[in-house]
Amino acid sequence: MISAKMEALVKGSSVIRAMFEEGKQMAEKFGPENVFDFSLGNPNVPAPKEVNEAIIDIVKNIDSVKLHGYMSNAGHEEVRAAIAESLNIKYGTNYGAANIVMTVGAAGGLNVALKAILNPGDEVIAFAPYFGEYNNYVSNFDGQMVAITPDTNTFQPNLTEFETKITNKTACVIVNSPNNPTGVIYSCETLTKMSEILEKKQKELGRTIYLITDEPYRELAYDGIEVPWVPQFYRNTIVGYSYSKSLSLPGERIGYLVIPSEADDFSNLAAAASVATRILGFVNAPSIMQLVIGKCVNAATDISYYERNRNTLYSGLTKLGFQCQKPEGAFYLFMKSPLPDEKEFVNRAKKYNLLLVPGSTFMCPGYVRIAYCVSYETVVNSLPKFAELARELMLI
Ligand code: PLP
Repeated sequence: MISAKMEALVKGSSVIRAMFEEGKQMAEKFGPENVFDFSLGNPNVPAPKEVNEAIIDIVKNIDSVKLHGYMSNAGHEEVRAAIAESLNIKYGTNYGAANIVMTVGAAGGLNVALKAILNPGDEVIAFAPYFGEYNNYVSNFDGQMVAITPDTNTFQPNLTEFETKITNKTACVIVNSPNNPTGVIYSCETLTKMSEILEKKQKELGRTIYLITDEPYRELAYDGIEVPWVPQFYRNTIVGYSYSKSLSLPGERIGYLVIPSEADDFSNLAAAASVATRILGFVNAPSIMQLVIGKCVNAATDISYYERNRNTLYSGLTKLGFQCQKPEGAFYLFMKSPLPDEKEFVNRAKKYNLLLVPGSTFMCPGYVRIAYCVSYETVVNSLPKFAELARELMLI
């Protein structure tokens, strides 16, 4: 018998993953070129060649005992120092190895951060639309998720409602920018206001409220937009980063947390993150991948690839009468469902072999997410199918 909690989770298992599996079956049936699978954020751009070269170099030249052995739970010291140094150059910060904990991707990092700070019954605030896995991560530690309703005009966080939802049980807030699923980048203005609210509430309630910023898409920003460095706005920030998207390494499971020294209870927090890494069963992030990152801290993927997909998809869909939020970053486009029930719209799209993800997966019904981290041909060839769908729905 599995636990009651897991039974419910298995039943309601990820819609996105289910679609991805369905997409694979459809590709076998209709041929991959005839299926337009926009379901999963699995990058289609190869990892930079430095990454593969570093793997070969490391395997050939590093002592096998060091390479494959355990290390500190927080990760290889020299890799953490190299990441800290690279952040210092980029953001004018003053981090050292002690501020970095290597993680098993962003998912691992978020679970470590939540394990470190949550007591059962603590509340965690997130702004809809948000990555649905946050609900599971928070429930892993018996926290209570508090969702803030979206501002569908801008998809910036709804700060008016946010202020009213902070209570003496609020332990942390999770933000994600560039955002999955909207592609919106939270502005300096938003972060300034959010920080003012948090400072005020911390004083009023006499407790620390951490801001966890989930940033697997930090490097994926278009039109020269800079993604603000959140700790510069709010002292009690924990940054979760991942190389899954920025270096196209989602299967390798590598990322890090930044715990700034200025954060309340820094030493305990950093120690708790190390221990959490161990006792959640990760023990440490994968050794070879840590060393690869140490050699490739400044490597980058070709974001012009995603930008071209974004431009073609956005202009194609808007010309067909679909209402879309123009993405500023990440590789997702959030589109208003022309039907009141977006699940019905997702089913209609499936008839044209278009696989989209319902917005309710992101606590934002009435919209669908299109992951455009696919080949350019998939984007171009999908547009006639979207046109047929638009015709069926009498948009054109
Ligand atoms: N957070 C967000 C917003 C994501 O979109 C994803 C993956 O798609 C993750 C976290 C998990 O990333 P990782 O593969 O690095 O664990």
